Amino acid sequence: MAVAKEGKKAPARKSAAEEQLPGIEDARTAFAPALSGALERPRSMLRALRFRPPQLLHLEGGETADRVALALWWAALLNCEDPEVMEPKASAMGPCLSCSSCLRLGADMHPDLFLLDGRGGSIKIDEVRALRPVLGEKPHFGQRRVILVAEAQSLGIEAANSLLKVLEDPCPDTCFVFTAPQRERLLPTLVSRGWVITLPWPEAGRPLAEELRPWEQALGTFVSEGRGWFDMTTARNGLDAAKAQQIVLIGQKALADCLARRGDGVLTAVFRRLPEHILLQLDEVFVASQDALQGQVNPLLVLDTMATRLHTLAHRR
Ligand SMILES: [Zn+2]
Repeated sequence: MAVAKEGKKAPARKSAAEEQLPGIEDARTAFAPALSGALERPRSMLRALRFRPPQLLHLEGGETADRVALALWWAALLNCEDPEVMEPKASAMGPCLSCSSCLRLGADMHPDLFLLDGRGGSIKIDEVRALRPVLGEKPHFGQRRVILVAEAQSLGIEAANSLLKVLEDPCPDTCFVFTAPQRERLLPTLVSRGWVITLPWPEAGRPLAEELRPWEQALGTFVSEGRGWFDMTTARNGLDAAKAQQIVLIGQKALADCLARRGDGVLTAVFRRLPEHILLQLDEVFVASQDALQGQVNPLLVLDTMATRLHTLAHRR
């Protein structure tokens, strides 16, 4: 249930078998990334936390889709109605993903799921304020109310402070889960209140989307030789914020590969020639670029600034 939307009524309690849930396909799509083999370790950590869930859980690392899917999977685990999954001994089981509760959670149609979604822009203080009256009540339908703050780095400072206040009050049977690329991008006071689980970085060698390859090549050439980049950005006026985020992510992945001494991408090879203290500064450039994109700065400007800073750092001696 998205907080900002009004007029959504709590659905009547029925099992999935009794009705064809309208969002059934949405739910399957939403959970899919959480089921990848690469996420087995974070899933097992969540299973272990399930019967005594922390008030606030942070999911960092991986990619946005993995983090948000895993947060929904966690919400489903806390509320699954499958009798076998509910058994206290069933600590090795994940949610069934087919009962009415699981499906409603996956489709964002569950009355006890509140999604503050920062994937498309900043999360406003009004959305946080709207939670307050709800939090004093017991969950309506499931066992645990789940407040999912997707991409919590999009919280404005006021909204983040307001959430901190919310977390100081007792919220019975309520679990908060925040997703973010790295914990460093959240207020330290928010991070310190929570339990952090880090998802693995995307596998080295996972094929880059075809349309992104020229960007990787251009960035690699520009960082090492100082040419070719601006032709690329000038020609691509249709570049939007989502694509720009993916291009920044190429750089972040290349850096992660370089630090982990794996991968053979163009940019990874360029980074490998740099001393470690420079690599850490490159990371700051990527984080600042992602923040600027979240803050609605023009994507072309963000990418040009990023490329220029990377080039300057790479040639600093
Ligand atoms: Zn279930």
